[in-house]
Amino acid sequence: MTPLSRRYSQFFIPTLKEVPAEAEIISHQLMLRAGMIRKLAAGIYNYLPFGLMALKKVEGIVRQEMDRAGAIEVLLPEVQPGDLWMESGRWDYYGPELLRFRDRHNRESCLGPTHEEVVTDLVRREIHSYKQLPIILYQIQTKFRDEIRPRFGVMRAREFTMKDAYSFDIDEEGANRSYELMYTAYGAIFRRCGLKFRAVEADTGAIGGSFSHEFMVLADTGEDDIVSCQNCPYASNLEKAEVRGDDSKATEAEKELQVVDTPGIKTVDEVTRFLSVGPEKLVKTLIYQTEDGPIAALVRGDHELNETKLKNVLKVQELAMADPETVFEVTGAPMGFAGAIGLKVRKVADFSINQMSNMVMGANEEDKHILNVNEGRDFQVDGYADLRLITPSDPCPRCSGELRFGKGIEVGHIFKLGTKYSKALKATFLDKNGREAPIVMGCYGIGIGRVVAAAIEQSHDENGIIFPISISPFEVTILPLELHEARVRNVAEDLYQHLSDLGVAVFLDDRDERPGFKLKDADLLGIPVRITVSIRTLESNSIEIKLRSRPDLRLAPVDMAPKAIREVVQGLYDSLK
Ligand code: ATP
Ligand code: MG
Repeated sequence: MTPLSRRYSQFFIPTLKEVPAEAEIISHQLMLRAGMIRKLAAGIYNYLPFGLMALKKVEGIVRQEMDRAGAIEVLLPEVQPGDLWMESGRWDYYGPELLRFRDRHNRESCLGPTHEEVVTDLVRREIHSYKQLPIILYQIQTKFRDEIRPRFGVMRAREFTMKDAYSFDIDEEGANRSYELMYTAYGAIFRRCGLKFRAVEADTGAIGGSFSHEFMVLADTGEDDIVSCQNCPYASNLEKAEVRGDDSKATEAEKELQVVDTPGIKTVDEVTRFLSVGPEKLVKTLIYQTEDGPIAALVRGDHELNETKLKNVLKVQELAMADPETVFEVTGAPMGFAGAIGLKVRKVADFSINQMSNMVMGANEEDKHILNVNEGRDFQVDGYADLRLITPSDPCPRCSGELRFGKGIEVGHIFKLGTKYSKALKATFLDKNGREAPIVMGCYGIGIGRVVAAAIEQSHDENGIIFPISISPFEVTILPLELHEARVRNVAEDLYQHLSDLGVAVFLDDRDERPGFKLKDADLLGIPVRITVSIRTLESNSIEIKLRSRPDLRLAPVDMAPKAIREVVQGLYDSLK
């Protein structure tokens, strides 16, 4: 008997009839109901056999595609010395997601949330020459991140399995090639897992570095906002999406400045209603505190400032909304009445401000706004930049096509790191001319459990999971509906044996239960091919084949069944290519 097949009676799948109250999203509900996972503590889960099998399937695909791309598997420890993190500078930077503790010798330690430090340390010890490069190392291993809000089951857990890979090259060009290799491998992995996804341009966040893509599974319950072009391949994280700057100047004739009373009127909504003007006539003057002192950022009333963009434009590390005292110092007025006229601090404005004339803004005086403000005549900015979040009415920054806004689940993330870690940890090599240079790095992650959850989030119906065959714990499930009938039992047993011998992973529901009960569980578990053997199908000497993803049934003669079923299985794999 091949180890791929199992009998329900000798397996462990504790299914649940009720929808568990703790689960907000469908994949979490179904993973609990299908007996795949159980919670131990917040964000910490047991994988039960059915869940573990799906996890292993994803791991298998990831491993194959990593190996195919030339990456080499290692296994690095989960417990990491604090010293290394101090060396890279992240001990202080990483924040409370890094779970820290001391060992019995009072040494600072942590549970690895990611492995740049450890892998760079390994490479700096073992690799010294350009002849040993390039190399891509990967592992499939447990990560711990003390997430502030673990939720959605294994989707955002504290302890989770990640595939992480790290590339090491002699130069930028090589690093780009490694990045391309991983980009291609990621596409192949997620396609083979049956996911509908987009690779989006992303911000580099806490890992740092210069360039990155996120692989997003399109799903309404996703936590990330993404924009994608309907016309070209452009797709981006909302946070990162560029707004195309427009150089056209305002054309309206400039009117005379006019101060108006606006008692207690502060927000964009209040001002537009009170003065009967559209928010596109309004300018928000936002005062921020940075390590270089306070600054003012100007955006149109109906636009949202993007703090990441502002931070990049200002080239500052720290950026926070100024407190009321600072606002008062800078503007001479309480919050809600800031305007650009007469401000002594650095002023940066979003590109769209350039096209505005006769603007409305705060008068830097309590309970007053000012009308007909014009840049150049009444105030000057220190520079224009792309400072705002993109909106649905903006064109695609690449092709001017129409944008679609949607939600996504981030299943993978690839980064070009450059020399950030190799410089900090002194991972260098000798080049052809015997000169020492820092290794150029990249890093590449996939959340294995999150892939399983995302696949279920994307593929289910009201009765349960609809597994893509590539990640399904079993390929075929056989349901003998009347176990007490010898013929039904024998045909099912024969088929189980025969298919298993052919290498098909079969799950035989050999429990002595009512047909309706078995059919319900089969729908819940979502194994893609269901075979029923019953007194009725045997009347025509047949078995019934049904795909979990389709409503139609078909009969196949008992003696032709193994071949017919194998073809159906193969067809499902082919559809994922
Ligand atoms: P997120 O923005 O969702 O927190 P991240 O940017 O912190 O993700 P990375 O550091 O890039 O994630 O980690 C690589 C991959 O690990 C992610 O693409 C995701 O699939 C997975 N992952 C990250 N955090 C978790 C988590 N808490 N639970 C499960 N998987 C996770
Ligand atoms: Mg995170």
